Amino acid sequence: MKRRVLFAFLPRRCAFCGRVTPADIPVCGACRAALPRVGDPRCPKCGRGTGCCTCRSAARYYDSLVAPYYYEGVVRKGLHRFKFRHVPDNAAPFAQAMAETVRSCYPDLGFDWIVPVPMTERARKERGYDQARLLADALSAALGIPCVPALVKCYETGKQHGLNAWMRKGNLAGVFDVPDRDALSGKRVLLTDDVSTSGETLNECAKMLWLCGAESVRCVTLAVTKYKKKDQK
Ligand SMILES: [Zn+2]
Ligand SMILES: [Zn+2]
Repeated sequence: MKRRVLFAFLPRRCAFCGRVTPADIPVCGACRAALPRVGDPRCPKCGRGTGCCTCRSAARYYDSLVAPYYYEGVVRKGLHRFKFRHVPDNAAPFAQAMAETVRSCYPDLGFDWIVPVPMTERARKERGYDQARLLADALSAALGIPCVPALVKCYETGKQHGLNAWMRKGNLAGVFDVPDRDALSGKRVLLTDDVSTSGETLNECAKMLWLCGAESVRCVTLAVTKYKKKDQK
């Protein structure tokens, strides 16, 4: 409590670059101008602009994925600060951008629950907090839709990074579970995470939600990765 009160007197910093900004401005002008926004039209399966899509609309258990930004430049920097430097207050400006994208891409707002992609209890203890959960809670406040942690991650997996598509799928099989299947039955879910790289994590989570009775699963992340030309194979 004391820490929170004292925290209020610290200068406000830009959520992306960390520079000091005026008290009521969460993102500085330079970052605002440099934000790598995802443009329309978008690929519904990978969330990238169709000009950057490399997924060829691969089959997915979720209906669609949208994100306000690409994971590069100031967004990569901002998420890194958020994840590793313990600046949980930045969840609000990030969630605001996600909320705007949700309102414009899913205008019906037909969601019963916001469900975050989970991390293991052990990983959460090691890091001190769960950044996907913080984003989901802030998004819940922005959209007025309850955040329900319906998924759990049962055990730690090796890093997805560096694995090919087939290995990524295998690496995640059976990792996620839904403890209360009755409660999930018939729910329209907005599944959230901080970043989507290959979409495999969201896909595996969506598979479990769908198998356990969710009526629909649509996704939103703060950012999606954009592959360079040489990766487009
Ligand atoms: Zn900035
Ligand atoms: Zn695509």
